[in-house]
Amino acid sequence: MAVPLLDLKAQYVTLRQEIQAAIERVLESQQFILGPEVETLESEVAAYSACRYGIGVSSGTDALLVALMAIDIQPDDEVITSPYTFFASVGSIARLGARPVFVDIDPLTYNLDPARIEAVITPRTRAIIPVHLFGQMADMDPILEIAARRNLFLIEDAAQAVGAEYKDKRAGSLGHLGCLSFFPSKNLGGYGDGGMVITNDAPLAQRVRQLRSHGEQSRYEHTRVGGNFRLDAIQAAVLRVKLRHLDAWTAARQHNAGTYRRLFASHGLGEMSLPVEAPQRRHIYNQFVVQSAHRDVLLARLQREGIGTAIYYPTPLHLQPCFAALGYERGAFPHSEYAARRSLALPIYPELTPAMQEEVVRAIAAFHRN
Ligand SMILES: *Cc1c(COP(=O)(O)O)cnc(C)c1O
Repeated sequence: MAVPLLDLKAQYVTLRQEIQAAIERVLESQQFILGPEVETLESEVAAYSACRYGIGVSSGTDALLVALMAIDIQPDDEVITSPYTFFASVGSIARLGARPVFVDIDPLTYNLDPARIEAVITPRTRAIIPVHLFGQMADMDPILEIAARRNLFLIEDAAQAVGAEYKDKRAGSLGHLGCLSFFPSKNLGGYGDGGMVITNDAPLAQRVRQLRSHGEQSRYEHTRVGGNFRLDAIQAAVLRVKLRHLDAWTAARQHNAGTYRRLFASHGLGEMSLPVEAPQRRHIYNQFVVQSAHRDVLLARLQREGIGTAIYYPTPLHLQPCFAALGYERGAFPHSEYAARRSLALPIYPELTPAMQEEVVRAIAAFHRN
């Protein structure tokens, strides 16, 4: 039985009527850019994330970029983040001419290790971007404490973590700004690109809103240089339908994670490292990432059997050719490099059946027997 990594069609067939009615509503209104659908989605997602303000933007990448612009990041400023993340967390810093400064991850959670942050702070440091990787939030208390004491901005990359919690606080609501992605494969995915900046800070919200539309303060009056970072109404209408189902999907993902844990144990796969849920977290399992010492051979074997997997991420960002000028060497961030060699994401999407999960684990067990 083939098991895809993700099956968006399986989700769509359960939503077809609702989605088509929502898109039809936008078509009938002929209001495609911003407008009431986007505004309603902004308040709904902000409320869901326990934030006062939401500003819909064109992607998760642009959410990060516009958040950094809103805090006025300048060339040669330094921004601290993880080297073990999707490219955009770091690319957005570099695009403003600022310098990404890396801190290694906690090997158990794959998230920024707070104990390593203080050592890399310099007079040029302006902000910290913790990434809530795979759907689990970083250890925020110590990061918040450092940011407050050292007077740094905190921008949460919550692109993989909408609705995730740390001590009952929602992802994106703890820092000065939070960034969400609605890329189709994210837990709350649109039918195209989209994202949102969320915040509790009224002046920052205002600045993001302005930057999203070319820095326009009032019609044709530009007090800053922004860009076109707008979310469109069709995406907002689709996302409003999907948001109503998000908690049920999260529960299904958590249930599937529990099923994997039981299956791995019953197949005697104790040597596979499974995701670790840190205390006081709501893990939303955007990904279910395991580790294998024979990852590449295992991946090839699973591929042959029709089981979808992915590597998040094969090359840590400090080793990317485009960041060579930063001067980081191989070996600089051993936990990130170790994870990059061993991690493998398995299917975890809500519509996955127990039989499909059994198939995935059976194939892994067969691989380990020979
Ligand atoms: C997906 C993702 C982004 C970028 O979001 P896009 O909507 O694809 O631009 C940024 N950071 C992380 C950690 C992501 O997973």
